[in-house]
Amino acid sequence: MQILTGIAVSPGVAIAEAVVLDAEELRIPQRMIPQKSVTAELDNLEKAVGVSVSDLEEQRDRVRERLGHDAADVFSWHIGVLKDASLNRQIVALIEQKRYSAAYATSTVMRNQQRRFQQMTDPLLAERIRDVQDIERRLLRNLLGASGEDLAHLTREIVLVAHDLTTSQTAKLSETMVAGVALDLGGPTSHTAILLRSWGRPAVVGLNTLSGAVSGGDLLIVDGVHHLVIVNPDEETLAEYSARRDNYVRLTDDLRSLRELPAATDDGVTVSLMANIEYPREVTTALDKGANGVGLYRSEFLFLAGQSPDEEEQYEAYREAIEGMEGRPVTIRTFDLGADKFTQEKTIEPERNPMLGNRSLRYSLQNLEMFKVQLRAILRAATAGPTRVMFPLVTSLIELRQAKMTIRDAMEDLEEAGVPFKRDIEIGMMLETPAAASQCRDFVKEVAFVSIGTNDLIQYLLAADRGNERVARYYTPSHPAVVKTLKDVIRACAKAGVDCSLCGEMAGEPIYTLLLIGLGLRSLSMSPHNIPEIKKLIRAATMARAQRVARRALTLDTETQVTNYLRSETKKLLPDDPI
Ligand code: PEP
Ligand code: MG
Repeated sequence: MQILTGIAVSPGVAIAEAVVLDAEELRIPQRMIPQKSVTAELDNLEKAVGVSVSDLEEQRDRVRERLGHDAADVFSWHIGVLKDASLNRQIVALIEQKRYSAAYATSTVMRNQQRRFQQMTDPLLAERIRDVQDIERRLLRNLLGASGEDLAHLTREIVLVAHDLTTSQTAKLSETMVAGVALDLGGPTSHTAILLRSWGRPAVVGLNTLSGAVSGGDLLIVDGVHHLVIVNPDEETLAEYSARRDNYVRLTDDLRSLRELPAATDDGVTVSLMANIEYPREVTTALDKGANGVGLYRSEFLFLAGQSPDEEEQYEAYREAIEGMEGRPVTIRTFDLGADKFTQEKTIEPERNPMLGNRSLRYSLQNLEMFKVQLRAILRAATAGPTRVMFPLVTSLIELRQAKMTIRDAMEDLEEAGVPFKRDIEIGMMLETPAAASQCRDFVKEVAFVSIGTNDLIQYLLAADRGNERVARYYTPSHPAVVKTLKDVIRACAKAGVDCSLCGEMAGEPIYTLLLIGLGLRSLSMSPHNIPEIKKLIRAATMARAQRVARRALTLDTETQVTNYLRSETKKLLPDDPI
């Protein structure tokens, strides 16, 4: 049994056999094989090499015909590597002597080869790394069959293990029988983590070396409450976790009874619990979990399907979300592209520091036509029900004014074209930068509402990348600087009579609920799956108690003290819940 600690990003307990995905989504089903399978594995290897060589020879001949000898040379090089006796001997030795599967042995030898090229100073030779990667992929594909592995066709539940998942890989999980996810990389509020949470099954990220330590077929426990992954648990641990899993499912079922009840404290203060969504179809989950509206629709996820969405596609998506919420308000955030949510054109050099780069509103203002198309689509869709629009990552009043001016331009376009749209739409901003926090009193004069995006605000206040597991311990909402900033922003909004809510991940974390409502927030937006538990907590509290907790938290001067204090106060209200 092996226990690894990471960062829990989606609660619950999953117990199932592991499937390990490599970076190319190839599934490596097994690392070790029994002695009796050695001959069969050697046969598989020989066949895979044979097929790979003949594929390449065919391609080489075609290219030679069309483009000549030089262009065909690269194929000859690949063929040479595949036929290289020394490499073959190394793979065979791993299968025969260490009983590695052919896929695992191939991967091991090819990765060693890549490392050798990596260390070469000659840039031409270093370029060869990519060729060796290509060869590895080709061999693995031929060894593993049609396994660009289609998680969609699983016939039983598994735990998915990978070094990392892109946002688009993660988005596809909802249609699979994956019961839990464990990743080497990732921080607490990376967008992969956010998608895992909205998917609603247990997930732990930031496990560093897990994918190297696990073989396909190992039994895994993902404990999305205590930040743990347990590999091949002993019987006692397995029994304990089976009970915990059942208990967690029971608690979740009990929460269903709260669906129709308001999130009101015992002394009568109601808090709006809103949903964060990435796709319009998620409004169904939002309603099912009792959301009072959508507080954050991350519109940029329209891009992950591939192409840039045109105005009609966007209009349809926004309208679907607005109509789906059946009269409850929907706040659409304009595209927050860049950083870890890609779509920067593939041709552009990756930014050296994308979290501080051309992202969010900056990106939209530099791509004005794209921005205007989006605003037109939002303005048109807003005729279908209560809709607000907000801008992400605002850092200066000039940007905010430019963005508002672009809305006016979009309105003029629609006016001229005689297309119906909502003229008096409420315009707000996300407060996610220390600059906006410190200048909050100026910003609130120019917006109808503010939504505090703590995922980003925390990373910029504390200088800790939200997606980097290596600095995850520096990234915490409990830091006194975060608590104080929240207090200041909430006060500035209240003073100006501007509606203020919070839509970062901390809104869905029970230990922060008393603090947030005690500081004065009356609207929290979170992954729909978190709504029932936060509602339960609010209903168990009084506002007087929450205000006391907030006052005391503001006097503490380290993040550890704040976390411990908030956890113990929350535990008093929900003694039986895993917090
Ligand atoms: C945030 O930064 O808190 C936020 C809600 O936006 P995102 O997570 O999409 O950056
Ligand atoms: Mg953000």
